[in-house]
Amino acid sequence: MKKEDFLFEPSINTRDDVYELISWWKKDKVRNAKVMVIGAGALGNEVLKNLALLNIGNILIVDYDTIEFSNLSRSLLFRENDANNNALKCSIAAERVKDLNPEVKVMSLNADINNGIGLGVFRRMDAIIGCLDNRLARLSINRACYKLRKPWIDGAIENLAGQSTVYVPGKSCYECDLTEREKKMIRRAQACMNVANRSIVRGRIPTTPISASIIGAIQAQEALKIIHNYDEKSKEAYFETLKSKIFRYEGKTIDIGVYELEDIKEDCDSHYYYDEIIEANELSHNTTVGELIEWAQKTFNESEPEIPLQQQFIYELIQDKSENRISVRLPESKVREYIETNNLRTDFNEEVYLKGYHYLTIDFPFKELTLKEVGIAPLEIILIEIEGAKKYVELTGDSNYLNFK
Ligand SMILES: [Zn+2]
Repeated sequence: MKKEDFLFEPSINTRDDVYELISWWKKDKVRNAKVMVIGAGALGNEVLKNLALLNIGNILIVDYDTIEFSNLSRSLLFRENDANNNALKCSIAAERVKDLNPEVKVMSLNADINNGIGLGVFRRMDAIIGCLDNRLARLSINRACYKLRKPWIDGAIENLAGQSTVYVPGKSCYECDLTEREKKMIRRAQACMNVANRSIVRGRIPTTPISASIIGAIQAQEALKIIHNYDEKSKEAYFETLKSKIFRYEGKTIDIGVYELEDIKEDCDSHYYYDEIIEANELSHNTTVGELIEWAQKTFNESEPEIPLQQQFIYELIQDKSENRISVRLPESKVREYIETNNLRTDFNEEVYLKGYHYLTIDFPFKELTLKEVGIAPLEIILIEIEGAKKYVELTGDSNYLNFK
């Protein structure tokens, strides 16, 4: 072939030049997009692979798990050595995404979505993708996204089957779709989460790389649509989306369908909106409780502001058999680890009772502790209750916390 034969080829200098041949593709929108992928298991691996190849500019990976040998059969980003090293899923996934496409920026957070990710992180994302294996984590994402009126893309797989949905606050809701039995299972998981074994919370569902790649691809595709955000009036493109719909795939029988979700219910704990968020540059997760209370007193001219905590702050553990009391300063999510490390359960039947605070008030005795130490995540949006009103205050001083590389 002569050199001239290539003259009419488009010039391909960056990886996404080729996508510009797609009429509706907006390179800048894709390159500037921030997408959060929650869960880096089988589904997460597939979603991340697609996002990396699509040149999605900024990818945030959230997971708290380590890589086990059993993950290798369904996770193209992980290697045997990662399992041998007990490496963190989020860090290895970030490394491999960067390896797949050095043009994208990545950040990983080794955190539990139920209490470790501030709402301000959600707020800064263009698309939020749940790649989870348990209902409690899905419920946490649903509630966070409702508060901010942001859609989120759910995916679930089992065996050769899978499904994906885009929940849109005000129109569709993960919590509304739950059955009473499922809600009961979530409550049990919630009770177990902090003091018992995490494996109770985690599902044990047999999955395949086939359903993971099909559903992961659908989720990445929906993220691409949300990033472009074309509506019916747009001349460039109009997409049918999975907003308030469910895509179902059953590989055994090759049944594929898209169905409308049921309408939302009236009485549901997820339907709670944080409108009018106050950005407080002077507050961060390193602010002390005392400073926060003073700030609220001054800002809202209120002598007794009350700040409800998402998770209890524990100051005492009581062993039931010996009635031995141990002083601690821990958010509830760290108690389980503390009990295990210090062998506080002398035998299997030993119960350890927790004493703690649900609110930060002027009477809170540990005002020298930082917000991080009482269990408030960086970039959190804190609810402050003052006489007859609720204020939503972001720890905007944590803005540098999001750092894609
Ligand atoms: Zn609902």
